[in-house]
Amino acid sequence: MPSPPPPPQPSPPELPISEHEDEIMAAVEANPVVVVIGETGSGKSTQLSQILHRRGYTRRGAIAVTQPRRVAAVSVSRRVAQELSVPLGDEVGYAIRFEDRTSEKTCIKYLTDGVLLRESLSDPELKQYSVIILDEAHERSLNTDILLGLMKRLIKDRASDLKVLITSATLDGLKVSKFFSGCPVLNIPGTLFPVEKFYSTEHPTNYIESSLRTAIDIHVKESPGDVLIFMTGKDDIDKMVSKLEERIQNLEEGSCMDALVLPLHGSLPPEQQVRVFAPAPPNCRRFIVATNVAETSLTVDGVVFVIDCGYVKQRQYNPSSGMYSLDVVQISRVQADQRAGRAGRTRPGKCYRLYPISIYQKEFLEATIPEIQRSSLAGSVLYLKSLDLPDINILKFDFLDPPSRESLEDALRQLYLIDAIDENGQITDVGRIMAELPLEPSLSRTLIEANELGCLSQALTVAAVLSAEITFRSTRSKDMEGKRKRQELPDGSGWGDHIQLLQIFESWDRTGYDPRWCSDHELQVRGMKFSKDVRNQLSQIIQKIAKGSTDVQAKKERKSDPDYRKLRRALCVGYGNQLAERMLHHNGYHTVGYRAQLVQVHPFSVLEGDEYGKLPVYVVYHELINTTRPFMRNVSAVDQSWVKPILKKLERLDMNKLSGGSSGSKDPEPLEDKQVSSPKKAMDVKQSDVDSKIQAARERYLARKGKK
Ligand code: ADP
Ligand code: MG
Repeated sequence: MPSPPPPPQPSPPELPISEHEDEIMAAVEANPVVVVIGETGSGKSTQLSQILHRRGYTRRGAIAVTQPRRVAAVSVSRRVAQELSVPLGDEVGYAIRFEDRTSEKTCIKYLTDGVLLRESLSDPELKQYSVIILDEAHERSLNTDILLGLMKRLIKDRASDLKVLITSATLDGLKVSKFFSGCPVLNIPGTLFPVEKFYSTEHPTNYIESSLRTAIDIHVKESPGDVLIFMTGKDDIDKMVSKLEERIQNLEEGSCMDALVLPLHGSLPPEQQVRVFAPAPPNCRRFIVATNVAETSLTVDGVVFVIDCGYVKQRQYNPSSGMYSLDVVQISRVQADQRAGRAGRTRPGKCYRLYPISIYQKEFLEATIPEIQRSSLAGSVLYLKSLDLPDINILKFDFLDPPSRESLEDALRQLYLIDAIDENGQITDVGRIMAELPLEPSLSRTLIEANELGCLSQALTVAAVLSAEITFRSTRSKDMEGKRKRQELPDGSGWGDHIQLLQIFESWDRTGYDPRWCSDHELQVRGMKFSKDVRNQLSQIIQKIAKGSTDVQAKKERKSDPDYRKLRRALCVGYGNQLAERMLHHNGYHTVGYRAQLVQVHPFSVLEGDEYGKLPVYVVYHELINTTRPFMRNVSAVDQSWVKPILKKLERLDMNKLSGGSSGSKDPEPLEDKQVSSPKKAMDVKQSDVDSKIQAARERYLARKGKK
């Protein structure tokens, strides 16, 4: 008989959290809400849930641990299952959008903050949980911020047995404690070793090159120890990994130890993600090239050197134009310190900052701007409106940091234009169904309309493919090659990108989902399979919640609708707020409903013009993004007659009524200026001091940007 495999590595007893177990448990027993602050790697994510489990808290419900990032939910739950020697999905599981690995048995459940929000729609008191841990609260993700407000309500409403823990690596504990009427804050002292910091004399013109040089320098001159390199995104990481491998190979043989270069980011396939957690082979230095997931969400052991380029890629939304931008921006001081801290986990380390100390001191913001202040809030506002809690008035919702009045108004307008709320700001039946679909509001609305029009099957495909975020061109192919390859794919019959996505999926369907068809067309097999899975899930959900949904397998609908009129019409309704009108005598467009914005159809779009080359008068777009200039991404043609009702609605729009006040009524509740536009009032003096410094730094930054 072969001997059984050795038991998995037990939880390391030296983790700081474990040493404070009694103290933490005493606080949890005595208080409904406790804030736990501890250095990254101190065991908050992996140990707290296990401690509570050991102490019997899973007897009357499960423990939920939220994560802002999907990759963290998956990775941490896998680790905890390992430590408890149980198969993932049994006692320990995870749930992220479109992927649920939990079972009846699951009593420790890691889930994204978005999934917990959705669960609260069908179970407003979240009764299945005895403990809810809002992890990584310092990330200040939009959904975690909403959850903070929701928890505040829940502990008041629910029969006192719910325990809420809020954990963070850097969060201003006092501010959160105040928010929860003075709940205790436990500071778990860290065990960081000193980290020596080196600054560049100037900002590099090319941070990839500069990181490369620093990495090679470390490899040649420094003692053993892994190197963690922070990059801004997947593209940079891919570039960096291949260049670094090349340069290491070019080093004289035997001049230094072996090296292993590993990428780490959210869209990495799972089998590659786990590689960074395996210890380095003997006499080998690992280079981990990561996005800011390695800042606080994931702890990679063995790191002694950190290279910090000082940038991060940040998505920002502008509520006055409806436009997103994906900017590479300077990190905040808090982020810079977190990055440096990664070098001092196991022994004294070194951090190479590729920027001058003056930039760190004078230009970096103190802390990152919370996501709630740089996102479109349509989905969140719809969620809050759909809660059947008494007295819920979105504009009076208790936010840790309130969003601007402008972005709340933008959200209300968006929801009104797609019929999720009525002219008095009340959620509609359509809105309620939308809130239950795990999709952005535009796609939920499209599905509901498609169901009415009898083209649900097609719309499900479009929504699934868009949600699965399939990449079309393999990263290696050059642009021209990519375009040529893409021409071999269906072309959307000239109607646009949504139609093309549908046709691509249907072509694959006709091959019996042959993976070779995907690789022949340079489509990621993994992504395509995922979209098929997402489509199945969406179809099940909508059949459950939308009464009378048609047979989603009905394939006949295609034949009777060669111009995709029904589908395009459903898209027009769903994207009622993402509409653009062609400029007279031009092929440029301007957005409808926002401050007039000149925008272009993205060059990769398959939308075609008529015989004179004129593009359609009206189009809907999935996303408006400002890169080299404002582009509409994923665009499809819609008919002028379908647009009319939307334009009418825009004319009638009364923001005062929409925001909850009703012009005629005696008891108006207009949007209160002081509530949403001057958050400082609610905070103590110190905080507003910090805020004004942040504001000043931001203004300086914008001014400099403007000068360039
Ligand atoms: P925190 O949440 O406080 O940042 P974690 O609980 O995530 O800390 O991590 C505690 C320790 O557990 C880490 O220092 C690391 O050694 C180990 N660890 C965490 N996740 C994994 C993993 N997926 N594989 C191996 N070790 C891990
Ligand atoms: Mg953690």
